[in-house]
Amino acid sequence: MSTVATKAFVMNSFPWKERHRLLHLLTPDLGLITALAPASERMRSEIRGATQLFSLSEFVLTVRQSRYSVRSASVIESFIEIAEDLDRLTAASHAAEVFTDVARHDEPNRALFELWAYSIYEISVSEYPVFVARMATFRLMVEIGLTPCLDSCVRCHGHVDEPFRFSFLEGGLLCGKEEFRKTQAEWTVLSHGTLALLRHIATSPYKKLFRFYASEEAQSEASDFADRWLEERMEKRYNRLALLEQNPTFSFS
Ligand SMILES: [Zn+2]
Repeated sequence: MSTVATKAFVMNSFPWKERHRLLHLLTPDLGLITALAPASERMRSEIRGATQLFSLSEFVLTVRQSRYSVRSASVIESFIEIAEDLDRLTAASHAAEVFTDVARHDEPNRALFELWAYSIYEISVSEYPVFVARMATFRLMVEIGLTPCLDSCVRCHGHVDEPFRFSFLEGGLLCGKEEFRKTQAEWTVLSHGTLALLRHIATSPYKKLFRFYASEEAQSEASDFADRWLEERMEKRYNRLALLEQNPTFSFS
């Protein structure tokens, strides 16, 4: 048995065998790991804050046969605003699902940890948490090499001009010289503002990632684009955000 100390974000937390909990932890160096949070009352009260969903904490973990359990934990940042707002909570849950899917299949990746750190902070404070979650998952796709061609024609690498036609099938813009099938199922037209926004999200340093101005129209177009890009490239439906749209007047009464 050995111990390891690491910072980690709690990406998911669920009950396990009566009173224990299992945590999915996103760490800088170990990637995504599963850790058991033991059930003893003393332990539970001691580590409760540190094991809350979406908090960032410093963990000391014991490792036995590559199984982790929490020996002690102290909270660094709890992002309490997320639990108190349905939009933030849904946005964070959606982004966490995508980041977890990627981290589970990839080598440990410090960039992914950092991108999550910037994203969850922004989700906790932004006026547009759902939009931030969508842009965070779009940048994540870029980080793992699922990058759309947004600078030149995906076929001939020539200059692109308005109207900016984007082919989902081919994964990039098409210049005016290209023949393209006219079914809307395969392509979409991006406005100048939307394209500028998507380019910013795909390339800017994390520090400036969520520092942009975008019109409502560009936000809406970029959201549709990011959702479709995510689902087609990950070959999975992500349903959490749809719940918000179905329940615009959701109340706790
Ligand atoms: Zn071309």
